[in-house]
Amino acid sequence: MGEINNQSSIENLVIIGSGPAGYTAAIYAARANLQPLLITGFEKGGIPGGQLMTTTFVENFPGFPDGVMGPDLMDLMKSQAIRWGTKLIEEDVELVNLTKKPFSINVKNLTIKAHSLIIATGASANKLHLPNEQKFWSKGISACAICDGATPQFREEELAVIGGGDSACEEAVYLTKYGSHVHLLVRSNQLRASASMIDRVLKNPQITIHWQTEVVDVDGKDWLTNLQIKKTDTNVSQVIKVKGLFYAIGHTPNTQIFQEQLDTDETGYLITKPGRPETSKEGIFAAGDVTDKEWRQGITAAASGCKAALAAERWLSKNNLSKLLKRSSPEPSAAEPLENIETSNEENFVPSASWHKGSYALRKLYHESNIPLLVIYTSPNCGPCHVLKPQIKRVLSELEGKAKAIEIDIEAEQAIAKQAGVNGTPTTQLFLSKALVKEWKGVKQRNEFKNAILELI
Ligand code: NDP
Repeated sequence: MGEINNQSSIENLVIIGSGPAGYTAAIYAARANLQPLLITGFEKGGIPGGQLMTTTFVENFPGFPDGVMGPDLMDLMKSQAIRWGTKLIEEDVELVNLTKKPFSINVKNLTIKAHSLIIATGASANKLHLPNEQKFWSKGISACAICDGATPQFREEELAVIGGGDSACEEAVYLTKYGSHVHLLVRSNQLRASASMIDRVLKNPQITIHWQTEVVDVDGKDWLTNLQIKKTDTNVSQVIKVKGLFYAIGHTPNTQIFQEQLDTDETGYLITKPGRPETSKEGIFAAGDVTDKEWRQGITAAASGCKAALAAERWLSKNNLSKLLKRSSPEPSAAEPLENIETSNEENFVPSASWHKGSYALRKLYHESNIPLLVIYTSPNCGPCHVLKPQIKRVLSELEGKAKAIEIDIEAEQAIAKQAGVNGTPTTQLFLSKALVKEWKGVKQRNEFKNAILELI
């Protein structure tokens, strides 16, 4: 990861967004020696890496004949962008000022100046806003079947998915691995997913499709148990008993911070020149789902990121604004391999390691260690877990051995997850001397973990 220029200097190109559009733009701009700065986003507008982080197998991205896991694909793109010299800031953009040049972009405690900008902020998952939605959020309702499907509470229970696109179909099929039966609630009388995805749903005896059906509300005690649904053709209401409701009802573009400064259409999508990446303001380009309500594929986002980078490169050069990186060697060193840590057992357990995996290590450290322990519950395909783990590894390395982490895969170690009351991944628990000190659900800023640990040292 390159160094971020000091505040008085002006970046050639800032890319906002870390999905396929953002990383492809970064790869092209970095290879053009523009040393792009990519701001990944953190909490606003979904997770770093974008929508592919909450998908399982991507089977239509060229070059992967047997498919590739969405989070793995994003890790590979990130690694490729870093290898060529992309600088990263893992924060949300809070504010932009695009009214004067150079443009300014505010992230936590930092104002960045840039000659050009590529906006690749994507789109975020929609919610239904049911009366009881908040009460049962993470207690039965989830916006990510892939992250939360393996949760013990969903095992062998009836579950429901709402939506009729590729996401809904993929999630319904995925959830049949865990639940006893899946109800797919579709508001119209047709699915708008791809033909192969529809086939998988129709051929799966564990899925029942409820056509022309809307969800009115959810109910239960401590956990969701009832779904009130209504048939829109007959107005007949019904209660179905499910322990999980998964949302897959489309997305809204992440353009709030650009409103009033760039032209958008009536639904908020950035408007660019037809078939091109230029927005309504010179020097600002858009790529990916933030400007595309029609195609919305990983590959189309990547292609538009490539176009945006080439257009930015030409624009910077035409305006004599680029400061090019001089490489000491034409070939950068190889990209970091994707990590794969072995589950600990009696033979391979190394007590001094800062990162461990599995219940053997958990038991050993829980009983024998007197330093703070972070227990991180993950599931194999959970994109947010991919984002969280490197954050925690950085904290542990900054703390130089004063704390350790143990990763528990809730799919492989269901009993432990159940005993710990884990109802979604990632969940992180902080222990000291066998006592639970704190619990976090989802991805949090590095400092939250670090400060909590420092209080115990
Ligand atoms: P889509 O926008 O394609 O589908 C959204 C679905 O939700 C539609 O069926 C829509 O109904 C329904 N919906 C919207 N609002 C409501 C509501 N308030 N109540 C009930 N239903 C509602 O989104 P997806 O996330 O499925 O897909 C986004 C893009 O990503 C697509 O291009 C898709 O092809 C792609 N994708 C590809 C995958 C793959 O290849 N593996 C996996 C997942 C996504 P209606 O049809 O009536 O409008």
